[in-house]
Amino acid sequence: MATTIDLRSDTVTKPSKPMMDAMVSAELGDDVFSEDPTVKKLEEKLAAMFGMEAGLFCPSGTMTNQIAVKAHTQPLDEIICDKICHIYNYETGGWAFHSGVSIRLTNGNNGRMTVPQIEELIQPDFDWLPNTSMVAIENTVNKGGGSVYTIEEMKAISDFCRSKKLIIHLDGARIFNALTALNKAPKDLIGIFDSISVCISKGLGAPVGSVLLGNKAFIKKSRKLRKVMGGGMRQSGILAAACIYALDNNVNRLSDDHARAKKLATALSNLPWVKQVLPVETNIVIFEVEDSAKVAAALAGSDIRVQPFSPTLVRMVTHLDFTEQMLDQVLQVLGKMKTL
Ligand SMILES: *Cc1c(COP(=O)(O)O)cnc(C)c1O
Repeated sequence: MATTIDLRSDTVTKPSKPMMDAMVSAELGDDVFSEDPTVKKLEEKLAAMFGMEAGLFCPSGTMTNQIAVKAHTQPLDEIICDKICHIYNYETGGWAFHSGVSIRLTNGNNGRMTVPQIEELIQPDFDWLPNTSMVAIENTVNKGGGSVYTIEEMKAISDFCRSKKLIIHLDGARIFNALTALNKAPKDLIGIFDSISVCISKGLGAPVGSVLLGNKAFIKKSRKLRKVMGGGMRQSGILAAACIYALDNNVNRLSDDHARAKKLATALSNLPWVKQVLPVETNIVIFEVEDSAKVAAALAGSDIRVQPFSPTLVRMVTHLDFTEQMLDQVLQVLGKMKTL
């Protein structure tokens, strides 16, 4: 029987046997009392890697981003993001719900904003205007086809934000994919951001878990916000153990996912019914067709699942559980799909 190949997202991975073993043997305690040694180990490990003072383990990247917005702003503030970013599009409007802030959007290059675009959106100091207080960038940009900001681009935005006294947050749900593409290390980000959100449940293959990084005062405030949002977890070391395993074992292989994504993109760009493929820099392939639902249905007929991302955009994401053999199978199926 053919197994289904799932390319909808890099969140579809299941914990491997050695990851499960690490979870089963994790040392546990009550993390609401700050007594889970494995959670602490994960928070300290990631903070050390990125050169930040402290970390906070959370159930999702939505929560780490939303805590960051809440901790960094006050009601009547305004934040600047790109129009395709996750914080604006896919977090249920949480910036308004939790933080009472408004939002202004850049029209970036596949989601990457530039200093002049940000500068244009900063509000002057009038009673009738909100107070611009924070900029959030996303690296890689999910909806931008996994597009990557270089270290220099991030640094330029950060320098500008600091000169305007704006907080700078990184939604780094896929920061390890970005660093892999850039051939850089987490320590190359030191000093650039006030806070960073890192997901371990995406390409790194943990079942659950994101970590928010920042200075001690910010993380202390964030712990309280995590609690009020319902994210205080108890023996969550069982999950943190999976994240530690993922960081130790699944970062170095991300380049395989990137190479496979490029092969998918090349095959897609040769098909007459594919109008355009966004440039592929990491593990996300977004392509334009006449009718994304029709494409998803046709591929589902060959046991390949993809994500209709808009009426005309389809997304494929490569990941830990998408093997070379599965790639060959997808390439064969695509090769036969001359028409739709
Ligand atoms: C997945 C993702 C998140 C967090 O999503 P959760 O499903 O809440 O963990 C945040 N930002 C980006 C760019 C993402 O792709």
